[in-house]
Amino acid sequence: DGKNKNKPIHLFQQHIQEAMTRQLTLEKDLQNVSIGDEFSIVFQPQVKVSTNEIIGFESLARWRHPLFGPISPVEFIALAEEKLIIYQLTERTIDYVFKILETRKREYSFTGIVSINISSLLLEHVVFIEFVRSRLSYFDINPKQIEFEITESVQLFSSETVLSHLQLLRKMGIRISIDDFGTGYAALSYLSHFPVDKVKIDKHFIDQIDTDRKGEAILKSIISLIKNMELYMIAEGVETADQIRFLKERGCDHIQGYYVSKPLTEEKSDMVVKNGC
Ligand code: C2E
Ligand code: CA
Ligand code: CA
Ligand code: CA
Repeated sequence: DGKNKNKPIHLFQQHIQEAMTRQLTLEKDLQNVSIGDEFSIVFQPQVKVSTNEIIGFESLARWRHPLFGPISPVEFIALAEEKLIIYQLTERTIDYVFKILETRKREYSFTGIVSINISSLLLEHVVFIEFVRSRLSYFDINPKQIEFEITESVQLFSSETVLSHLQLLRKMGIRISIDDFGTGYAALSYLSHFPVDKVKIDKHFIDQIDTDRKGEAILKSIISLIKNMELYMIAEGVETADQIRFLKERGCDHIQGYYVSKPLTEEKSDMVVKNGC
């Protein structure tokens, strides 16, 4: 009868309703969240294979929502970008990370790098660049210890504004690295004229070591390309000793991944820094 016919539609509407409520709640809460409690920053060590020495940490955001539990950064960063919350969120992250770096420099003479993921949206705006400049002078930190990770994309490399802003950041002393290298942009030629210091080879290529001969061949040429361009490189998502051996043999000496360490809480990474890298 009519009642039964309506039921699936009703359930579907209820599902949509719930998803929308969740989305709106997350959006509102993300807008007001401050870093410390439910929202935190974790630090994944980056290591020089030949010496086992920690060269730095990548800072990664974590959000444990009081109602919905842990939310993946992939979800809340996309939401933040869509709703333009990413500006304030990144500014808070920068303040937070710079403060930590200042403390670690003062208390443990930490000289390593801390990298921060920067959404390319921010690079369109000179106010963001000026924000970074003001925070660099506010905190007692060495800009050389800051790295901005920027995911490669076609839009990114075709914007003159972004290009000039990246140049400004580098003049301040900040290092620029290309995140997820090899996944977002077909032509590699941009590397020759783009203001970049370092390339992060995406996990996708690391996964192909010992499993995909053609993928391995691509990885080998990526490594020699980066070397020939005289850029620094780091392999991401390294999970096995065999992968490390392969990378080391071919001259990629810096790695990051679960094999070395998962991202650490602020306290745990503090202990690592304190006890000498
Ligand atoms: P990403 O920048 O490519 O970060 C690397 C991701 O790989 C992280 O996921 C990290 O936890 C994970 N990972 C590291 N080593 C391994 C490994 O050996 N195996 C595997 N399977 N995974 C590994 P996470 O923390 O979930 O972050 C996901 C993405 O969210 C990041 O990708 C980044 O694009 C974005 N993100 C995270 N925090 C921030 C932030 O504060 N700002 C911005 N704009 N984006 C962020
Ligand atoms: Ca990254
Ligand atoms: Ca990456
Ligand atoms: Ca990524």
